Amino acid sequence: MKTYLVKEGDTLGEIAEAYNVSVEHLLSQNLGIKDPDIIKVGMIIFVGNELLHTVVEGESLSQIGAFYRVPWRDIADFNGIDDPDLIHVGQRLYIPGEIATGFHPVWPTDYKTITQRYGANPDWAAYRRLGGHEGTDIRARYGTPIYAIERGTVTSTGNHPAYGNYVRIQHPEGFSAVYAHASELLVKRGDIVTRGQEIMKAGSTGNSSGPHLHLTLMKNKERVNPEEYLPLDGVDYL
Ligand SMILES: [Zn+2]
Repeated sequence: MKTYLVKEGDTLGEIAEAYNVSVEHLLSQNLGIKDPDIIKVGMIIFVGNELLHTVVEGESLSQIGAFYRVPWRDIADFNGIDDPDLIHVGQRLYIPGEIATGFHPVWPTDYKTITQRYGANPDWAAYRRLGGHEGTDIRARYGTPIYAIERGTVTSTGNHPAYGNYVRIQHPEGFSAVYAHASELLVKRGDIVTRGQEIMKAGSTGNSSGPHLHLTLMKNKERVNPEEYLPLDGVDYL
C-alpha cells in the first residue's frame, strides 16, 4: 500500500496530481478526510491506484474479482486473506491494480526512441506492395521488458510469420493492441494484465531486422496511429 506523509503547505489536489490519481479517488481511499480542503501535516494518506471495496451481503471474493476484472487470488493476497470464504459484510478490501477507467497508455519499453513511424513507407514496404507501416516501432534491446500500455485482457498469443511471437490485448474503450517480435512471451490467452505489467521480452522474431517492439494499435478494430495516444514526452526519432 503506497502512502504519503502530508507536509506543510500540501494540498490534496497537488498530492493527487503527483500520484496521477483524482481527488475523488483519494477521498474514497481515505475515509478519515472529511473535507478535501483540510488535510493536516503529519497525516498519512493512501495514494495508490487501488480501489477500496466494501463487502455487501451475499458477495463472494470471486464475484468481487469478476466485477473489477481482477483475479480474486490477487485480491486475497493483497489483503492478506488466507481463506476466501471468510470475508464478511462491511469488510474493506483493497482491489489491486489499475482500476481507473479510460485509456491512458504508458510507454511500453525502457527506451524512448521511435525507430519507425506509423504509415512510413520504406522501400521494403513498397516492394511488397504493403500500404505502409501499420504500427509504430519502438527501440528495445534484446531480452528487455515489454510492458502492457494499459490494463486489459490477453485475447491471443502465438507466432505469426510477420509479427513473430506476439501478444494481442483488448484494452478499455474499444482499443486493442498487438505487441510483436518478442523473444519470449510471459502471458497467455485469458490473462488479465495491469497497466505497465511486463508481458514479454523484446526480440526480433518474425519479419524484423533487429530487436524492437512493433506495436499495432486499433480502436474499434480500425488501425490508428499509436503516436496519437502514447505519452510522447522525451521521445526521440531515429
Ligand atoms: Zn513495425
